[in-house]
Amino acid sequence: MKKIIILLGIPGSGKGTQAMRLVENYGYVHISTGDLLRGLQGRTDLDEELQEAFQTMLEGKLVQDAVVYRLGFDAIRDALAMGKKVVLDGVVRNKAQAERYHTFFEEMDVVSDVQVIEIALDDDESFDRLKARIASGYQSRPDDTPEILRERIKVQGNAALLPIKEFYEEHHLLKIVDGRRSMDDVERAIQHIVS
Ligand code: AMP
Repeated sequence: MKKIIILLGIPGSGKGTQAMRLVENYGYVHISTGDLLRGLQGRTDLDEELQEAFQTMLEGKLVQDAVVYRLGFDAIRDALAMGKKVVLDGVVRNKAQAERYHTFFEEMDVVSDVQVIEIALDDDESFDRLKARIASGYQSRPDDTPEILRERIKVQGNAALLPIKEFYEEHHLLKIVDGRRSMDDVERAIQHIVS
């Protein structure tokens, strides 16, 4: 089983849910840059870069790549050093990040341990799902507001995902599962890929 799973998918595609299932089923460590950023809330010791990133996150925009690396690299290094497998949830969201993480894995000599999985969903479905999530109050988050929703889908929708997918396709690392299916079906499809 691969040590590093990179989950791709637009907001609402179910990356978080599926990451949790990989944790429960196979003992992966869940690394989500969104969670790491939300974890900054209320901290009084943040430097300017992290304060700015937190604000950017609240606006539904992508935070600076440097912050993603600052949070992501340490978390990945620590988990791998402890002999754990990692599932990266939303850690790669533009082509520059895809390239930089790839270099990072090359430097660690673990590229052959990487599997990229996209949970595919179209932008309209994403919008409907996130709207429903807001209406239900379930899993509500500081950036789950109707105004921010359009922005998140604009900057993090399928148009933004395409260059990332192309990068991983070129490296023969990408597998795609149909995110319109039930959570259990998506889980089974992912299990099939990873085991
Ligand atoms: P998520 O919980 O994965 O939906 O992420 C919440 C927010 O954190 C996103 O809307 C972005 O503002 C920010 N974020 C998380 N991961 C990244 C990343 N890899 N690159 C840029 N911004 C990110």
